[in-house]
Amino acid sequence: MSVESPQVKQQDGPTMAPDRPVLTAAIAMVVLLGLVLSATRPPGLPENGVIDSITQNVAVETEEDPPAEGSEEGTTVVDAATVPGTEETTVDYEGDSEVAVAYPAIPNADPLTDFLDRTLTAQVHAFDAANPGAASFEGEWRLTAARDGVVGVRITTTETDSEETRVGHSTYWYETDDGSVHGSSGLLAGQEELAALNDLVREDVPDTVTAGSLHPISGLYDSLAFSPEGDLVVEFDDGQVAPTEEGRVDVVIEREEAEELLSEFGARARDAATQGVEEFTVHAAPEADKDGGDAISPGEISPIDDEIDCSDPETRCVALTYDDGPGGRTPELLDTLAEYDAKATFFVTGYPVMEDPWTVRRTYAEGHELANHTLAHPDLATLGAGGVRGDLDPVQALVYRETGYTMDLMRPPYGSTNDTVAEVTEEMGLAQILWSLDTNDWKDRKADVVADRALDGASDGAIILMHDIHGTTIDASHEIIRELDEEGYTMVTVSQLLGTPEPGQSYVDGVPEAPEDDDDQDD
Ligand code: ZN
Repeated sequence: MSVESPQVKQQDGPTMAPDRPVLTAAIAMVVLLGLVLSATRPPGLPENGVIDSITQNVAVETEEDPPAEGSEEGTTVVDAATVPGTEETTVDYEGDSEVAVAYPAIPNADPLTDFLDRTLTAQVHAFDAANPGAASFEGEWRLTAARDGVVGVRITTTETDSEETRVGHSTYWYETDDGSVHGSSGLLAGQEELAALNDLVREDVPDTVTAGSLHPISGLYDSLAFSPEGDLVVEFDDGQVAPTEEGRVDVVIEREEAEELLSEFGARARDAATQGVEEFTVHAAPEADKDGGDAISPGEISPIDDEIDCSDPETRCVALTYDDGPGGRTPELLDTLAEYDAKATFFVTGYPVMEDPWTVRRTYAEGHELANHTLAHPDLATLGAGGVRGDLDPVQALVYRETGYTMDLMRPPYGSTNDTVAEVTEEMGLAQILWSLDTNDWKDRKADVVADRALDGASDGAIILMHDIHGTTIDASHEIIRELDEEGYTMVTVSQLLGTPEPGQSYVDGVPEAPEDDDDQDD
């Protein structure tokens, strides 16, 4: 935005010597007029423009851009025709559902186009995989900013399965200078700011919103945009935080309040969204697709804490693992883990995830690791490759849809695995995690017995098997976590314990030695 300094000129006046009182009165008039007009100025027009036009006596046409326009949902809309050469393209899809997902291809913005293609393809796949009754998935797009090196694309999806139709939104932000694409959480300065936003949203949401559904994770805050006035518009999909029939839930955070939450790029995006534009051209395509680089965006929660080094002999790490959940008392277990700043790994099963997505989101938000324990808990060794994939894929999709997180680990039910399972999990990027200590908590529903087994067997590098669907295990865990903490153990996620486990490989513990073969792990 060019800011011209206001000038008071004596244009075409009589050529007499300047008379101080007259000039002062003239300035006072201009200032007064400026104040009156700026109080009634249309939104989006900068003050300087008004002063300029006044001082130039309204004779000169202003070259200001038109004011930004808003959609019926409150977010800025930019006519795609202002970005010359923009074309619409669609996601390629082969499958049974009816899929029609469009997105923009803007000249010289290839990293954005590629990102949209990948991301929307993943969304279609996840919808398909997570819904046995998947029927159709449609997507359309609008630009929500296009100027000053920033492009905002808002995608609206409509998905229909055998039960209902849900409308959802996501907004992506592109920096033309370096070709980086940001999810919406990339508008925020950091995790703390996302947590602060989550608190503001929680105060403001309607009563229909499900308690415990809001967490500061990128998968939930995936549609942040601005109004033409610069307010931050936070949108949630149908059914995401409230019953589907309540429709879209949105919260508007006023510009002043949002200001301190935004990153430097977020503030630029806001500025871009609050002014219209006659024409905007992206000049050069950057060389590489940066895709936000390696940096973790706010709301992407890593299961690995860089401060902890399990390979350090001084640090005794142990991995508590809980299968088959989430269960009814899992939140209570999360409370205890939080109290001791302990982390655990949850090998979740498909149907419990569908029933209680709120606990899944909370588990992720609090830094625990989510891992795949199949949809229906079959003995994978009895299935062919298609069957194995068919039982793992839906859970990957369900967790991705709830959290935005792609899981790296799986645990075969009953510890039953074979070469086929190894091949499929390798293809899917999943390491197989078994265990070194079985508490047999499913068999012996006695809290003290389970606690004793866990504590007697705990050692540096151990992976301890439990199930958070049993109340006795939750009771036992209070004691296990307290005792391990007292004994100086660091309770970590499996990924933290193992470093970077290899997809397809199976692991029984994190004691530094070569991992064993797949074959003799049955339990
Ligand atoms: Zn299990």
